[in-house]
Amino acid sequence: MQDQISLLRNTWNEVGGLSLEQRRLKLLALKKVIELREAAISKALKIDLGKGAFETYSSEVGFILGDIKFALKNLSRWSQLRRVSTPLALWPARSFIVPEPLGVVLILAPWNYPFQLSLSPLVGAISAGNRIVLKPSEFSIETTKIIRSIVEDVFTSSEVLVLEGGASETQEILKEKFDHIFFTGSTQVGKVVMRAAAEHLTPVTLELGGKSPFLVDETANIDKAAKRCVWGKFMNAGQTCVAPDYVLVPKAKEQEFTERLRVHIENFYGTNPEISDDYGRMISSRHLERLGAMIPADKIVVGGVVNIESRYLAPTVLKNISWDDKIMEGEIFGPILPVLTYTDLSRAVQEINARPRPLAFYFFSEDRKNMKRVLSEVSFGGGCINDTVVHLANHELPFGGVGDSGMGSYHGRKSFETFTHFKSVLRNTTRVDIPIRYPPYKGKLGLLKFFLG
Ligand code: NAD
Repeated sequence: MQDQISLLRNTWNEVGGLSLEQRRLKLLALKKVIELREAAISKALKIDLGKGAFETYSSEVGFILGDIKFALKNLSRWSQLRRVSTPLALWPARSFIVPEPLGVVLILAPWNYPFQLSLSPLVGAISAGNRIVLKPSEFSIETTKIIRSIVEDVFTSSEVLVLEGGASETQEILKEKFDHIFFTGSTQVGKVVMRAAAEHLTPVTLELGGKSPFLVDETANIDKAAKRCVWGKFMNAGQTCVAPDYVLVPKAKEQEFTERLRVHIENFYGTNPEISDDYGRMISSRHLERLGAMIPADKIVVGGVVNIESRYLAPTVLKNISWDDKIMEGEIFGPILPVLTYTDLSRAVQEINARPRPLAFYFFSEDRKNMKRVLSEVSFGGGCINDTVVHLANHELPFGGVGDSGMGSYHGRKSFETFTHFKSVLRNTTRVDIPIRYPPYKGKLGLLKFFLG
């Protein structure tokens, strides 16, 4: 492993990163191979997570193809040298900013969208011309195999290196020096990564998790709120970093809201979601056991069915949940939706703000004043008003967390910028040499003040 990483480092030291033309060719080749292997990728995701064809295309394969197309369209503009103005006091110099690749970067990915979350940062890092070590998750076994094979079809091992393994192997990798670490995973492991990065003074992007609130106010369209909540919560069987973690609904609307949740779950996945092609599976029986143990039997209004054999956990809704319940302690990261109630919107906002800042936040309302107010009062990575999850699908919106939910962001142009160093340069001429800056300074201060004033 060390030798393989050294190869990347030596190549970087000798020839630097990928030229603009190489990046373009590599991205085109990557797009082509993904298109050719679409069926195999779908099959892998079906085995790993029970993902249906529609979800696989929208959130994994199609998502990455969209990323590549967007990068190809904008790459030359993003990588252009950018001229900026220069103050008169520095005349006749000119100033500009030169984007350059960071060097050898490490990408660590989780298992929940294993294809998207390995390849989306990779597209950003390639667009910016870096050499890359990619470590997909040890849990999404079949997808990791196909990622390795696609990467090996497109890149040499001095361009992109895929390493495999779990916690201990990752910690070995983290002992090496990288020029940037891009980590997607839990807040707890994010701290491990940041500590290791500090040893080499390596900058990090941390895309972490947390409990993302789904807040409904008195004016909200309850049916649409419930429908979009079910959609965002139960896609990928709840194993989505930006899924609504819990619902906060006015006490007076609780009954109607939970009833609409039940109706939409049935509309989407039928009376028995276990036989629906569109409903996924837990990544492992260990993960399912953790989730199963979280469900208080006396608070189930919908679902609660567990099948360890098939790694199935039914879409589950819980009622009569308070802030002190165990389920409100950490990120759920599975298809369990606790519904909490409130009577005063300010109090609900206070409760949200009393907890770590979430990765996502969703607010359903028809009242513009409430939208403005809640947006200004709640801090979160990103989110939606009157929708869930889809903020991720806009290339123009940088995606990332804040506080405990992460640092840094990516998607669209921001992916290129995350993996780029912007080198600031002032170019002067030796043909003109204004004497005021040189000592002796006697009698020059007034002139300096005039120039800088
Ligand atoms: P994880 O933190 O357990 O693992 C992420 C990566 O770190 C994996 O590659 C894993 O092999 C490695 N790893 C695990 N334990 C390690 C350790 N002790 N030392 C070093 N490396 C270690 O996360 P996960 O279970 O794969 O994914 C679930 C978490 O990821 C959830 O918290 C979820 O919210 C978060 N997530 C965040 C985003 C985002 O974009 N912000 C996206 C998906 C998932």
